[in-house]
Amino acid sequence: MWALQDVRLPTGAAADIVVEGDRIARLEAGAADGLGERIQCSGKLVLPGFIDGHVHLDKVLIRDELREHDGTLSGAIAAIHERKRQYTVEDVRTRARAVIEDSVRLGTTRLRSHVDVDTIGGLIPLEGVMAAAEDCADIASVQTIAFPQEGLLRDPGAYELMEAALEAGADVVGGMPHWEADVEAQREHVRLCFELATRFVRDIDMHVDETDDGGIRTLEMVADEALARGFLGRVCAGHVCSLAAADHEYADRVIEKCLRAGISIAANPVTNLVLQGRGDRGLVRRGTTRIGELRAAGVNVLFGQDCVKDGFYPFGRGSMLEVALISAHAAHLTNKSDLDFALRAVTEAPAQAMGLDDYGLRPGARADLQLLPVTSWAEAMRLQTPSEMVWFGGRLVAENRIESVLHRAD
Ligand SMILES: [Zn+2]
Repeated sequence: MWALQDVRLPTGAAADIVVEGDRIARLEAGAADGLGERIQCSGKLVLPGFIDGHVHLDKVLIRDELREHDGTLSGAIAAIHERKRQYTVEDVRTRARAVIEDSVRLGTTRLRSHVDVDTIGGLIPLEGVMAAAEDCADIASVQTIAFPQEGLLRDPGAYELMEAALEAGADVVGGMPHWEADVEAQREHVRLCFELATRFVRDIDMHVDETDDGGIRTLEMVADEALARGFLGRVCAGHVCSLAAADHEYADRVIEKCLRAGISIAANPVTNLVLQGRGDRGLVRRGTTRIGELRAAGVNVLFGQDCVKDGFYPFGRGSMLEVALISAHAAHLTNKSDLDFALRAVTEAPAQAMGLDDYGLRPGARADLQLLPVTSWAEAMRLQTPSEMVWFGGRLVAENRIESVLHRAD
């Protein structure tokens, strides 16, 4: 048993945190009194380990090997094909492992990764990411999503590969209905995903309507299917950009359906800020979903890193602190409750979307913790200072020390 003494919680309250084994045993002022092993924290901020609820670990760090393209989603997908054909399990494993390790250094101890499942790469991306997850099992938990990036009907053979991916142990059923050729094919894509999820007893986490075209409306198909099947609280829809471009009547209707179906929305502003709005002149759209309206309606909204130096996005370093900051700019998050919402979007919200019941700053939760050299979440966002210490299941897994020296004239 050991303790963090005198930490600042995100609420502003002071407390001690006692850890026993891999769990938080006690969390209250004075709880560390008399314990032999104590880390004196002097009022520094403690947070639960961040969760990256939407990332693509199979594609990370390939940017330098791709040809240049027009910067759009479809341009990026096409540019990646050639590289995807050359994937080996070891190649994917090495890149994915590097980004998991970097994420852990910066306080993220749980990740949910989409992994391409299609007739170009077969199951190589999944095997690589699963191997990396295994390599990193001592420092982080990683879920995998079987993601038919090239479509199910558009890519004959992908459905059978999805079955094989789930048999091989992929944790979640992915999808990308808006990528299909027409509305009927989109609807069939959604139906097939739910059928797979039902048959293999998995949750669903799909890419939904990642386009500026307000006429693309597969989110409603997903919500309708979830409601019709009673598949409640088990679906996450990622990106959902076209919702911002659709008319308000549709938006109100579908947001209400999402709320009723317990659908989480993974808004990934970091990448959508650069991918969308490419065709606009003058007032260029942000390309993010209706984050404020979803939040106001009570829908569970999370922010993911999505991409790290791949065909879609040249930046990213597994920093959910950076993701929260960029997302705050995209979604006009500035006051106290806004910033609390941004914190929730990289902690409790992805935990809810992933159905984690052992997460958070509370007794009984797994002791995934991080100590930051600031006294508030607002200061953590503003200064972007990395965590001094990170724990995974009660074990210290990362430390960061930054030395900065200012040399003044006498
Ligand atoms: Zn994505």
